[in-house]
Amino acid sequence: MKVVNKAIKVRIYPTKADRNDDGEKKANIGKIESNFGIYRFIYDETLIFINNFKNLLLQYGYNVEKIIVNHSSCNLFLKMLRHDFKFLEKAESSSRQQAQKDLINAFNRYYNPNLNSEYPILKTRKNTKKFSFRIINNNNNVRINKDKNGFDKIKLAKLGIVKFKTSKKYHEILLRGSDTNDESVKIKHVTVKKENNIYYAIFNIEKIHVPETIIGPKQQVGIDIGCGKLAVFSNGQEIPNLDLTRETDQIIKYQKTMNNHQPGSIRYQEAQRLLNKWWKKLLNKRNDYYNKIVHYIVKNSSFVAVQNENIISWKTDKDLSHSIQLNAPRDFLNKLEQKCKQENITFVKIYKYYPSTQICSKCQKRNKKISGKQNLHIRNWECPHCHTHHHRDRNAAINILNKGLQIVGTTVQ
Ligand SMILES: [Zn+2]
Repeated sequence: MKVVNKAIKVRIYPTKADRNDDGEKKANIGKIESNFGIYRFIYDETLIFINNFKNLLLQYGYNVEKIIVNHSSCNLFLKMLRHDFKFLEKAESSSRQQAQKDLINAFNRYYNPNLNSEYPILKTRKNTKKFSFRIINNNNNVRINKDKNGFDKIKLAKLGIVKFKTSKKYHEILLRGSDTNDESVKIKHVTVKKENNIYYAIFNIEKIHVPETIIGPKQQVGIDIGCGKLAVFSNGQEIPNLDLTRETDQIIKYQKTMNNHQPGSIRYQEAQRLLNKWWKKLLNKRNDYYNKIVHYIVKNSSFVAVQNENIISWKTDKDLSHSIQLNAPRDFLNKLEQKCKQENITFVKIYKYYPSTQICSKCQKRNKKISGKQNLHIRNWECPHCHTHHHRDRNAAINILNKGLQIVGTTVQ
């Protein structure tokens, strides 16, 4: 049994009305927009205060390499702001604090030498306004609620209820999260967000996960993440890359339109809207495909070894880059790793310099003639030592499996 954190993104449909016909309070567009504004206001005002304070210290000759920004000082400043700006009371209290928490995190990231993050900047810069705020679920004040007509609505604390749409599966998870008697799912917080003029609620939930029981014998599998194909398994099975030509053509088309028109013009805006739409289609399609493949692998395997291949270096290669960027092997690998961990399946990543393609899986001798990008076109080869005929990717997958088993100290079952 494991606790898994998961984000569920659902589309919400706020309207202009403040209350519905039965007099129930609605989280309408006005309230949501004003919460976006309040979030940015608090974030920016706090940041401006810190920057001014820093400048003041500098003027007086203090060396201010690092300004400590913590919760208690931020909280004090928030009190001052609330005293001066009464409109802040309209916001939900946890979302007010969240703005400052995000700022503190931004500073922590900036001070972290491993992260190489930029100094925090204002949220209300031209073109890049951030449209989001977060409500922490205290006392079940974020939940799915039936309205007076018996329809499920999202209740967003103080803001009110709002209509939403999601899949049956997610709907059910959210209902369980809203039920205080059901301990298996908990809603931690919700982020309300606007992207391309569409509103979303992203629920962060904590789910107690019970791995599925094993049916039938499971396989140990080595996976070669190929360029021509998404994956080749050590048992010879091949998973093709997804065909994304239609989506790509549309994206390129609207990108061209945007290049040929004045930013801000009607043509430009329309092209941008359609570009976003097609990107979203592409991402959804790809995600869906990867989820299905990952599900298939996880259901049928007891041990998974993959090579953490040099995917980044492929990206710089002109001929390969196009198909790789549309198909995201890194995403696929991450999904697979996460799922294997959830289901208690041993998952081993082989270091990227292990020459899995060059070693003969039969006699273990290395054949350097097929290494390097210039030899990527060689799909089949014969081992010069033991004369076994190899399929390039399958041979690699078998080597990956063997190496993986060697790492964890077992052998093929
Ligand atoms: Zn050989």
